[in-house]
Amino acid sequence: MFIPKRILFQKNTLDYKIGRNIYDFFKTNNNIEMIQLSNNRIKDNIPGEYLYDFYREGKKTLVVGIKKGIKFQTCKPSAHYQLPLISGCTGQCEYCYLNTNLGDKPYIKINVNIEDILSQAQNYIDSRFPEKTIFEGSATSDPIPIEPYTNSLKQTIEFFSNSENGHFRFVTKYTDIDSLLHINHRNKTEIRFTLNTEKVIKNYENKTPSLEKRIDASIRLINSAYPTGFIIAPIFIYDNWKEDYFNLLLKLKKSLPKHISHPITFEIISHRYTQRAKNIIKEIFPETKLPMEEKERIFKYGQFGYGKFLYPKNEIIEIQNFFETQIKAIFNNYIIKYII
Ligand code: SF4
Repeated sequence: MFIPKRILFQKNTLDYKIGRNIYDFFKTNNNIEMIQLSNNRIKDNIPGEYLYDFYREGKKTLVVGIKKGIKFQTCKPSAHYQLPLISGCTGQCEYCYLNTNLGDKPYIKINVNIEDILSQAQNYIDSRFPEKTIFEGSATSDPIPIEPYTNSLKQTIEFFSNSENGHFRFVTKYTDIDSLLHINHRNKTEIRFTLNTEKVIKNYENKTPSLEKRIDASIRLINSAYPTGFIIAPIFIYDNWKEDYFNLLLKLKKSLPKHISHPITFEIISHRYTQRAKNIIKEIFPETKLPMEEKERIFKYGQFGYGKFLYPKNEIIEIQNFFETQIKAIFNNYIIKYII
């Protein structure tokens, strides 16, 4: 669970249940600075003149806000729309896409007007009827670490469980999932966990739970019959990478219960980066050991019009062959969605 160093309440947020819950949960904790903003200027209340310090202080900050405007961003290819409940993450993964996408907003922000957001989701669902509509809850966040005192995901899962054509999905590395275990989700919410080898977690995924804890949380959700999947990403090629990823798959298999309500899904993504991401990462993590040598990669333009440095084709094929073969040998009730 995320215990912030400071909480910034934007105007009128204490009039909402989630805003009030957060206030009540932390009000007796003298170590937490609670600031009620009169001007909604978030950055003025987070110390750090340079990105290096601002990032670290921002990551200790919870902003309680209100989502203004009701247009949702699209979220292809994983869903139809982003569900704008939460942005930001308390983790400090060095390769994280949020370093680029939300570089000047490293704090975690919750929007307390969840009724407005879900009501707008219903409008999108109605407009696409009879097609089903999928909403992604983690396009710009990891929403789990603040769930114990916001119950925002619980309310969302309950909303979708009553929706005929709406579906919800999100991805996490975190483990604060207790409040989700006893919801009658009616298979409308899919939860995926991001896993990686112990070496990758130790070297690059700062302030995130261990592999064991992530697997343990995923098993509890599988036992609650949620459609559950695993994103193994980013895949890094290093000495003994195959042995380490093999051990990861084996550890997962050994932990799985005998009875599983839905096939386990796998999404496997090799490491890639943009020049812009590399520049920001070097600023936030000057000592990073992330492998980002252009001479070891190929440059390719993606669907969004900017280029990325990928592993060369022969290495991508090696990754694909390895995971296809091993997943097939180890698991029996699974779907590989993609290996890229
Ligand atoms: Fe980014 Fe996910 Fe790590 Fe959070 S847990 S910092 S969202 S990669």
